[in-house]
Amino acid sequence: MTDFKKLSEYADAFTNTENEVLRKMEDKARQVYIPIMQPSAIAFLQQLIKWQKAKRILELGTAIGYSAIKMRIAAGPGARILTIERDPEMIREAAQNIKKLSYDRSIHIVAGDATEELPAVVESAPYDLILMDAAKAQYERLFPRYARLLKPEGIIVTDNVFFHGLVCDMDQVKKKQLHRLVVKVDHYNHFLSEKSEFDTVFLTVGDGLAVSTKKPVSEEADQTNGGRLK
Ligand code: SAH
Ligand code: MG
Repeated sequence: MTDFKKLSEYADAFTNTENEVLRKMEDKARQVYIPIMQPSAIAFLQQLIKWQKAKRILELGTAIGYSAIKMRIAAGPGARILTIERDPEMIREAAQNIKKLSYDRSIHIVAGDATEELPAVVESAPYDLILMDAAKAQYERLFPRYARLLKPEGIIVTDNVFFHGLVCDMDQVKKKQLHRLVVKVDHYNHFLSEKSEFDTVFLTVGDGLAVSTKKPVSEEADQTNGGRLK
């Protein structure tokens, strides 16, 4: 079988980086290992934003601002992006990068912990799209809270749902702490797929993306009643 990593790299080579600031961010991320989204995954997310005409976007996990900037480029001038980060050093660097591209009017960094209630995040709801890319271990607990801030038919994208492929090889993971984390990610994936208010698809792009679309209320009722009425 063809190695997935190899295929992924093949696909990544077809993606493009829009400007020099982003290119420098990619270099830096590679050098000091900052887990920014992988090229195909971010390229897919950009297209999704365009299909959805998403303008109001929330991100969990800014890091150096790479995905926030990529999303801003896709969403266009009318975009309003809030992005949550708890690490002061990351916040400082992200702010600089965002400023360099003059996106500081449309990308707002919310300094704080995504597991806590952040008033600025609630005030800017509802969102067209939410990207979950922080605190993997907490995803399941966080999902319901953030799902409430989504508009009907809005989309939640979760990054790293394959966790370097380890979700398929859980028994091979010997380190206890890592094993616990893989179990949590796998659990979250099951949780997502079982959520009746959402349609979720798992995509083998980058490190795995889960795309969860909130069903319109009418569709949910239709499916629940299907076959019983009439
Ligand atoms: N989305 C970024 C990468 C994010 S990496 C990109 O693709 O460019 C994950 C980031 O989430 C890290 O910077 C980490 O500090 C932050 N993070 C982790 N847990 C968090 C939490 N509970 N609250 C806020 N930020 C968190
Ligand atoms: Mg990620």
